[in-house]
Amino acid sequence: MQTDERIQHIIDTFEPAWLPPEGELKGVVVAIDPAGGGASNGFTPAYIDSNECTACDECININAKIFAYNDKKQAYVKDPKGGPFKDLVKAAEKCSAGVIHPGTPADPNEKGVDKLMKRAEKFN
Ligand code: SF4
Repeated sequence: MQTDERIQHIIDTFEPAWLPPEGELKGVVVAIDPAGGGASNGFTPAYIDSNECTACDECININAKIFAYNDKKQAYVKDPKGGPFKDLVKAAEKCSAGVIHPGTPADPNEKGVDKLMKRAEKFN
C-alpha cells in the first residue's frame, strides 16, 4: 500500500475512543498523525481493514489489549502499543481474512525484532 493510500485508510477507519457531545466541536482542530506521534523513531502503528474482518476472534484471543471489536463486531487496533510486536505479527499470520497490518515495532529492542519485521513485511 502506498503512503497516501495508507494515510487515507487510517483516516477512513479511524475509531476514536471518545467523542465530545454533538455540537461541541466548533472551533476544534483535529490532527491525525499516521505515524502515531512517533515519526521521529520511524514507528508505524498497526491497523486493520476492519470492514473486511470476519469476527473470527483470533486476534483478540492473541491480545485483547491490542485488538478489540467495534460496535459492528469488526476488529480494530485499540492500542498498537498494547503488547509486543510479536503479538501483532502472530495475529497478522493467523488472520484468515488477511486484514491485519502489523506496522513496525514500538520497541526496536524487542527480542527477535529483525525476524519479526521480516515476517511482518508481507502484511504491511
Ligand atoms: S483475526 Fe482477522 S478476521 Fe479474525 S477477528 Fe481479527 S481481524 Fe477479524
